[in-house]
Amino acid sequence: MSDLIDDGQFNIGHICTRRQCEQGRGEKVAMRWVSPAMERADYTFRDLDDESSRFANVLQSLGYGRGDVFFTFLPKMPEQFFAFLGALKLTVVAGTLFSNFGEEALLDRLGDSRARGVVTKKGLVRKIARVRDQLPCLRHIIVVDIDEHQSADVLSYRQLMREASAEFTAPFTPAETPSVLHYTSGSTGKPKGVQHLHRSVLHQHQTAREILGLGANETYWCTADQGWVTGTSYGIIGPWSLGVTQIHFGGGYNAEHWFRVLEEEGVTVWYTAPTALRMLLREDRELFGRFRLDRLKQIFSVGEPLNPEVIHWARRTLGREIHDTWFQTETGAIMIANRPGLEVRPGSMGKPVAGIEAAIIGDDGTPLPDGEQGNLCVKAGWPSMFAGYLNNEAVYRQKFRGGNYFSGDTAYRDEDGYFWFLGRSDDVINTAGHLISPFEIESALLEIPEVAESGVIGAPDELLFEKVVAFVALHRQFSPSRELELKIRLHVSNRLSSIATPQEIVFTGAIPKNKSGKIMRRVLKAGYLGQDAGDISTLEI
Ligand code: ATP
Ligand code: MG
Repeated sequence: MSDLIDDGQFNIGHICTRRQCEQGRGEKVAMRWVSPAMERADYTFRDLDDESSRFANVLQSLGYGRGDVFFTFLPKMPEQFFAFLGALKLTVVAGTLFSNFGEEALLDRLGDSRARGVVTKKGLVRKIARVRDQLPCLRHIIVVDIDEHQSADVLSYRQLMREASAEFTAPFTPAETPSVLHYTSGSTGKPKGVQHLHRSVLHQHQTAREILGLGANETYWCTADQGWVTGTSYGIIGPWSLGVTQIHFGGGYNAEHWFRVLEEEGVTVWYTAPTALRMLLREDRELFGRFRLDRLKQIFSVGEPLNPEVIHWARRTLGREIHDTWFQTETGAIMIANRPGLEVRPGSMGKPVAGIEAAIIGDDGTPLPDGEQGNLCVKAGWPSMFAGYLNNEAVYRQKFRGGNYFSGDTAYRDEDGYFWFLGRSDDVINTAGHLISPFEIESALLEIPEVAESGVIGAPDELLFEKVVAFVALHRQFSPSRELELKIRLHVSNRLSSIATPQEIVFTGAIPKNKSGKIMRRVLKAGYLGQDAGDISTLEI
């Protein structure tokens, strides 16, 4: 089967905790928690096992069982990990909600999934309270920072855990058992509830080892919030299934704090996102010279296309390569990646990981030759493949054709087998009969010293069918001018082509991003066209 599972027990909660203890790692640090105030607390695999078992007992005593849906709605904090793993131990479906979500986003997700319970903190309870009467299935709100129960359904985590036993053995859990529920980031429309199975651990484990290079001696930090798939697949499951020590930092983005964490905790493998890396690129170079990062071996990125300029910056400033990885909520684990040992081609996502067959396929279902752009597809049946979109069987079925999963992204493969991302299929711009990648234009814009951020869209045009419109945010010390506009046009024209050159440049203060940091091109487009932007519950405001 795999060296991970030899007894058919696929329970992710069990594998990440008890199994690690059985294999002699009980006293090893599983999680070094670094609080927003930079205070540390260590938790061993034994602690992780005990606390998650306690939480499994808590849920069981409240009447939860296989298939019930339970969410965490917490910022990064130790209780989130205990609750998530505890729910999985009991074969309860574990969902995670980003703690910045507003009530509309909560209502969508808790309502759609018919969640029975949620664990949260005092400061967040009021958001749930405001939509509570629209959530008839929601029975329990467990609050981590109150000492006593408040009512029959607003319960104290501390009191429940005090009264619960740390003895719990996960039931035998076959591969096909529902495990994690994630809503997508909602970059292209309403977020979809993506259901995963315990089997996914096979691929999360394999890619954490083979791509991220995690093993017994690594100290690993994944900056992703647990509200998104990267935060669970690679901030919980993959690394702990390998018995790896993880750093979890509760603070938000702050270049100085981040580099302190990297240095002081001796991080050896770091997994982060382009949006964070683009912010670092804008920091004073002097800052980086103050930190010693000799232990840092590898940097990985996921979530958005990784602009070549960011790779060049990391080579110059950090003396390190950044390895881009591609996957989606639906794929559950990394599908295409750069990795140590494979030459990085800046702008390319790398090659498919072991066991994954990726292909570029035309709209009519025929595979396309190298160099031609088309639908990025993965052969169905990989171990971490999602089992469905909740309450949306029709859309799930539409994603599969001829044994292939259509990802909704457009890309091409070069003659050496590297995959190059062009855009979400809806974002690719069709101008004067050419298909243009907004990502390539944004990457070219980022090379201009005055440009801090950009977002590129196609807008209807009588002559060209679509024209290229570039939204550009400048670094603080610069202001828009006619000369700068010409400079930008000239640069894109030289770097890419005259066809890719923006017909229109709109200077703006900031580029809208969703809560996972992704550029929201559909919001830019709707604003430009004076239309309604649709569901913007995940927009960062
Ligand atoms: P929704 O499906 O609701 O619109 P979303 O697609 O943003 O939201 P996720 O599943 O979090 O939700 O994101 C996956 C998408 O992110 C991919 O389909 C791709 O468009 C983009 N992406 C992820 N990693 C990369 C990468 N390395 N390079 C380019 N794009 C990436
Ligand atoms: Mg998507």
